[in-house]
Amino acid sequence: MIRVENLHKHFGGFRAVDGASLEIATGSITGLIGPNGAGKSTLFNVIAGVHKPTSGRVTMDGEDITGLPPHELFHKGLLRTFQIAHEFPTMTVRENLMMVPGGQSGETLWNAWFNRGQIAREEEALRKKADEVLEFLTITHLADEYAGNLSGGQKKLLELGRTMMVEAKIVFLDEVGAGVNRTLLNTIGDAIVRLNKERGYTFCVIEHDMDFIGRLCNPVIVMAEGKVLAEGSPEEVLANEAVIEAYLGT
Ligand code: ADP
Ligand code: MG
Repeated sequence: MIRVENLHKHFGGFRAVDGASLEIATGSITGLIGPNGAGKSTLFNVIAGVHKPTSGRVTMDGEDITGLPPHELFHKGLLRTFQIAHEFPTMTVRENLMMVPGGQSGETLWNAWFNRGQIAREEEALRKKADEVLEFLTITHLADEYAGNLSGGQKKLLELGRTMMVEAKIVFLDEVGAGVNRTLLNTIGDAIVRLNKERGYTFCVIEHDMDFIGRLCNPVIVMAEGKVLAEGSPEEVLANEAVIEAYLGT
């Protein structure tokens, strides 16, 4: 689904991504690991349109998507979550889900008044969808909680939930497990597997927790110093000498 060819992202003279090439197969849950500073988040940012690459190419299903802005990628079904969750803290969990950008075409107040019946129906449909997402994620009990009151792990679940409000094809998850307790991490893992199996989502997952990676991901891609160092099953990459050295070297 995604092909990254010889991608570079330099900040001044610093090569955060330094000629990375990789592929993410349709239907896979691909892991992306590597020591801190390896360039993983920067790679995500370039693929997801947050940063323009210095050079190189990204394609999605054969179509060149290099440097497209996030909202265009969003419409193609390419979504990313951030290492730090960015919910609306003073809105409830359900309202956060309902805030997902939809197809609304800049309604004027006048149109809104004439179409108020339709808008009410759309809101009802959104609410129904949000409630389905909450049930899928097993957090129905948090529907009316302010998002700002959620734990770190619950916020990550909410982020995952937001990707379910639209027709996503591929979701990039940056450190979903960071600071999350084991129980909640398992819930997040289960949700990812179900979204993959039942809805056909493809995932690319950055994560430090090797149990999580080993349980969910195949293949696993290892980055170090802006380059792809190895790729294979979790067992293969963790037995790879160069990978062990890269981790020990930091
Ligand atoms: P990872 O996610 O693998 O830990 P990052 O992609 O966040 O690594 O960072 C890779 C390197 O690029 C780091 O050394 C980081 O300091 C640097 N870097 C990331 N973003 C910027 C930026 N906006 N400006 C300058 N340097 C950056
Ligand atoms: Mg990172």
